[in-house]
Amino acid sequence: MLTVVNPATEAVIEELPSDDAAAIAQKVAAARAAQPAWADRTLAERKQLIQRFGELLANQADPLAELLTCEMGKPIQQARAEVKTTVSRIGFFLEQADSTLATETVLATPGLQEQISHEPLGIIANISAWNYPYFVGSNVFIPALLAGNAVLYKPSEFASLTGRAIAQLMQQAGIPTDIFQTVVGTGQAGAALLDHPLNGVFFTGSYATGCKIAAMAAKHLMKVQLELGGKDPVYITEDVDIATVVPAVADGAFYNTGQSCCAVERIYVHARVYDAFVETFLATVRSFVVGDPMQETTYIGPLARRPQLDVLQQQVEEAIAKGATLLTGGTPLDRPGYFFAPTVLTDVNHTMSVMMEESFGPIIGIQKVSSDEEAIALMADTPYGLTASVYTADRDRAIRILKQMNTGTVYWNCCDRVSPRLPWSGRGHSGIGLTLSTYGIQTFTQPKAWHLRGPA
Ligand code: NAD
Repeated sequence: MLTVVNPATEAVIEELPSDDAAAIAQKVAAARAAQPAWADRTLAERKQLIQRFGELLANQADPLAELLTCEMGKPIQQARAEVKTTVSRIGFFLEQADSTLATETVLATPGLQEQISHEPLGIIANISAWNYPYFVGSNVFIPALLAGNAVLYKPSEFASLTGRAIAQLMQQAGIPTDIFQTVVGTGQAGAALLDHPLNGVFFTGSYATGCKIAAMAAKHLMKVQLELGGKDPVYITEDVDIATVVPAVADGAFYNTGQSCCAVERIYVHARVYDAFVETFLATVRSFVVGDPMQETTYIGPLARRPQLDVLQQQVEEAIAKGATLLTGGTPLDRPGYFFAPTVLTDVNHTMSVMMEESFGPIIGIQKVSSDEEAIALMADTPYGLTASVYTADRDRAIRILKQMNTGTVYWNCCDRVSPRLPWSGRGHSGIGLTLSTYGIQTFTQPKAWHLRGPA
């Protein structure tokens, strides 16, 4: 049984039966049997069913957002935004599917034609995280289904009710039940799923788990994609308008209670604007409404997982012991639920875990720098490679700096942003492979090379 707890109240919401190895084996067999017929349907038919799924999601955005808030603590406005934005992401995939999945003719002569067709991988595991279950889930299962795959969707144990709701909507939309199935449980259920010779695993989660997934995938030599964590830096140069930049950067650090893969996790500020930046940043963070995530006005809710309170507390204590200054926050809140006070540390450096390890919570370190070169060196001092951001009035300066970042995504005058039109990929400890963009549709296919000798 999986006990689902509301992180804002610590009340048990539901006990969910988990899938054991035998149940998972049955699901894999059912998917295997059903997938060829799904792949044989026309793309137009598959698109119609996915479109219907998107409509159901749009119609039920409010109750679905409430469920998400209840089980993982995301503030309700942010939960609603996630569900609604997922609908437009689905729209992007629907628009792009025909051209991306069409067979390409790369040579057409009277006696020889060469073509590339895009066939589905087959049966894929989608092992997912809890922080944005609609985004990170749909980035995988929507294009995978459009391309003709069967999906075994393993929602996080902290977003299992949302996973169940997604499966119900898939059924209502008319997606065959064996083509989209959930696997319910903890990491143990995920591991049991990967005991089977599937055709791919698309994982979103931590670096530590990602390494285990890659090892398990190697056993069956299946395709593996890993979307992992980050320690994403932002550099504020001396030529910016502080009043405009601070709210954007603070939002990048604290949105979703800091639990975003591309959350701002480190801030470097040029010495010439450092004091003004810190003062305005602190005022902004102090203005955040912290509390019941069901309230419309709440901006910071609880953490989804209790153990993360200890991780944050340790990062703060270690930083202070090594000379950091705590400007606000620094402790869990004295109330039921997994609340941690929004926290700002200055006088930080790279000997401190708060500047080197993913915090995944409402806590940020701000470090003073005196040149672009110093900022570049500090930004690059990480094994992660998800995003990096620069705020400056000078576009050429930003591009010069961002070219030196070994990250899948770079931002000029923005941060913590994802676009369906652009590939989402991590480097180093942030992962392998990508989702989103047209590449994020093709990734669920395998090319077949056709050598056709004879008249066209
Ligand atoms: P996690 O690694 O704890 O769990 C992720 C999933 O893996 C869950 O479904 C879990 O049940 C499953 N799992 C755990 N152990 C397993 C095992 N041995 N075998 C198979 N499955 C197993 O991560 P999380 O706490 O759910 O997510 C937070 C992490 O995800 C953060 O590091 C965050 O940065 C990252 N993330 C990355 C992206 C991205 O796009 N790069 C997006 C969202 C989250």
